Amino acid sequence: MPERGEIRDEAAAKIRKSPRIETVMKPQSFTYHVARSAADALELLAAEGDDAKIIAGGQSLVPLMNFRLARPTALIDICQVPNSDKIVMDDSGLRFGFSVRHSDALRSSQVHGASPLIGQALKWVGHEAIRNWGTLCGSTVHADPAAELPAVWLALDAEMVILGPRSERRLSAESFFRSYFTTALQSDEMLTEIHVPHAPDVRLRRTAFHEIARRHGDFAIVGAAVVIDLDEEQRISSARISVMGAGEVPLRVHSAEALLLGARLDDVQAHASAEAEVRSVIRPPDDSHGSSEFRRKVTGTLVRRSLADCAGFPSMLGDMA
Ligand SMILES: Cc1cc2nc3c(=O)[nH]c(=O)nc-3n(C[C@H](O)[C@H](O)[C@H](O)COP(=O)(O)OP(=O)(O)OC[C@H]3O[C@@H](n4cnc5c(N)ncnc54)[C@H](O)[C@@H]3O)c2cc1C
Repeated sequence: MPERGEIRDEAAAKIRKSPRIETVMKPQSFTYHVARSAADALELLAAEGDDAKIIAGGQSLVPLMNFRLARPTALIDICQVPNSDKIVMDDSGLRFGFSVRHSDALRSSQVHGASPLIGQALKWVGHEAIRNWGTLCGSTVHADPAAELPAVWLALDAEMVILGPRSERRLSAESFFRSYFTTALQSDEMLTEIHVPHAPDVRLRRTAFHEIARRHGDFAIVGAAVVIDLDEEQRISSARISVMGAGEVPLRVHSAEALLLGARLDDVQAHASAEAEVRSVIRPPDDSHGSSEFRRKVTGTLVRRSLADCAGFPSMLGDMA
């Protein structure tokens, strides 16, 4: 048995011999602006040129800058724009301003009442410290294929309100997400609002969200969001299923949704058909967190668990948040 001192000397020798890898943990220098309005942010973006970036909560952008995977020459901070942190409920639905943070939405009784799926999913986003800084719009623009909110917006048929130098345009969530970390947003545009339409009848809506991650607070490996609307006879009149971590963008699985229409909510055969359809349709990538086959199987299982939650069956997965 070697002595403690010998072990230390051996470790020190190993460190001396190992190749030196330079790690950079500081961003390159940049100019910092505080925007006074959305229009002001766009003007600053145009004036600073293609290498300028908007910063909201900084929870994705700052780590990328520290590793120099992003090297913006200018940052335009949009979080001090008056009223941009408001959650507004009107006749058409919920409107989230561009500075609304994850924790603002989690704490809002209006959001829980009108659209519980948002809170069901937000509990899985990182940790409280991250949710206190990160914004809903920032997560959406960052467009990580394993992020919770993009899948939620798809399941809720949300609309993205985009402001450009000359005009405003609106895109469905499904057409907003284009590829890995890529959206339909142009470099001279910003996301100013996310609009979530009201349920036809909130009493007849059921929603559920499930994901798996290696540890609580980690990004998901895969996840599923389900929104079911029932008719007065308690039959499924509309179903929306979206999955995350199963492709380069969050995906709506329309063919699985179709199999649920007209079924009763507790029809386990319909649940099994939807699960099988999800497994057969998606083509997830392989990566170090899980093979394609593993992701395919687990995504189907999470869809079935979400349907079971909607039906009020006891869940097999505990709530990790
Ligand atoms: C340890 C850790 C764990 C995390 N875990 C999760 C997780 O489990 N799930 C998850 O979804 N996220 C996770 N995140 C990311 C977190 O949710 C971020 O808050 C989010 O991705 C980005 O929001 P932000 O407001 O911080 O945006 P920023 O980091 O400020 O910006 C992100 C990108 O969006 C752009 N941008 C921001 N707002 C706008 C806008 N209004 N218009 C145009 N462009 C805009 C920026 O230019 C940048 O490119 C984690 C982060 C950390 C550090």
